[in-house]
Amino acid sequence: MTIVRWAPSPTGRIHLGNARPAMLNWFFAKRHGGRYVLRMDDTDTARSTREFADGVEADLAWLGITPDLLVRQSDRTTLYDAARDRLIAAGRLYPCYETEDELDRRRKRARAMGKPPIYDRAALKLTDADRAKLEAEGRKPHWRFKLDGRPVQFEDLIKGPQTVNTASMSDPVLVREDGSYLYTLPSVVDDIDLAITHVIRGEDHVSNTGTQIEIFEALGGPVPIFGHHNLLTDAEGQGFSKRLGSQSLSDFRAEGYEPLAIAIMASITGTSLPIEPYASLDDIAARLDFSMISHGAARFDPVELDNLNARLLHTMSYEEALPRLSSLGLEGEAIWLLLRDNLAKFSDIIEWSKLVLGPVEPVIADEDRDFLALAKALLPPEPWSLETWGEWTNALKAATGRKGKPLFLPLRLALTGRHDGPELKSLLPLVGRKACLDRLP
Ligand code: GLU
Repeated sequence: MTIVRWAPSPTGRIHLGNARPAMLNWFFAKRHGGRYVLRMDDTDTARSTREFADGVEADLAWLGITPDLLVRQSDRTTLYDAARDRLIAAGRLYPCYETEDELDRRRKRARAMGKPPIYDRAALKLTDADRAKLEAEGRKPHWRFKLDGRPVQFEDLIKGPQTVNTASMSDPVLVREDGSYLYTLPSVVDDIDLAITHVIRGEDHVSNTGTQIEIFEALGGPVPIFGHHNLLTDAEGQGFSKRLGSQSLSDFRAEGYEPLAIAIMASITGTSLPIEPYASLDDIAARLDFSMISHGAARFDPVELDNLNARLLHTMSYEEALPRLSSLGLEGEAIWLLLRDNLAKFSDIIEWSKLVLGPVEPVIADEDRDFLALAKALLPPEPWSLETWGEWTNALKAATGRKGKPLFLPLRLALTGRHDGPELKSLLPLVGRKACLDRLP
């Protein structure tokens, strides 16, 4: 059974860059009939809040994803404590007492000597007596994982064969001085405990994967398959960031974008699939194979989003639109089919429906007043059909000699109050004779 997880840190509202792994994991689970775990990586208690976590859940639901399971790392500390103790017992986790200042000085010294600024493992040489002395001074240890220091190889689902050499890395701190956990260990413990089969995340985690594979092995857990996807950048090529206040999903939602448009942009950008109005998330899942994910950056184009959003609306069936039309009191298939082509955002339907239902502020130029009065007199009797517009304008043409723009534009301006809009031929029968008479002088 395929089991994936999406593991956001609830330290802000999620943005498009976060939505990418959320979607890619979902498509992978759907393609393989698997399960999807939403894991809140909330070990950073200073920055994570319940409110942000609730926001993540709401955003995910808005995108159309329903996780099979939700877990919060803040509820699972006992598991991490047990893993910590096992690593200590196995000699893979060791206490260190250096302050940030001391580490900083050592890194500078190493750089000055042309050496890589990696941790020198001085703490491994401390005797029991040294440690007792440091603790008597009031120092508390943080704990580092002793890396094997070897080329860790794995077959990446997206990027192909990868090697991360942990010999060039500092032993990572897994436990802070106050006993709290950094992300690295809890993530591995959870992946083992929840039987995660595939870890699909951004390529900024590749070196992490080298470290984490060693931790998986040290804990005796099965190592999942990893897949690292290219990162989404904004139009300028900058990464999205909660701290930089990149536009969040809730902002897009408030601006009236379709969730499917956001889901498509977040996932299909930077793949070989075209950005187009896919019917549903299942439709994308059926088509998106991970071999289609590009190796270069995935650059988000806001103009493309606007086009896509509009195209989704222009092809939206009445059945799909109906619940939202009902909530606006705008039922009517003919009205929807006539007006949907004009929409950039769904809520534009409110303004456009006034063309049919009124009120319309007719625009009438002085020089057209007589022409429009004649048009009013020649308005055919009901019943009206798609032929009515042609009959009416032919009669007007014969009576006035007008044709083309001077014939049609004054009628459009009077009947709709605007220069652009749907075909008058289709609009006319929906407006009806009485309302048309009211709009003509
Ligand atoms: N909380 C981590 C992040 O948001 C999760 C990374 C992972 O998927 O393991 O980057």
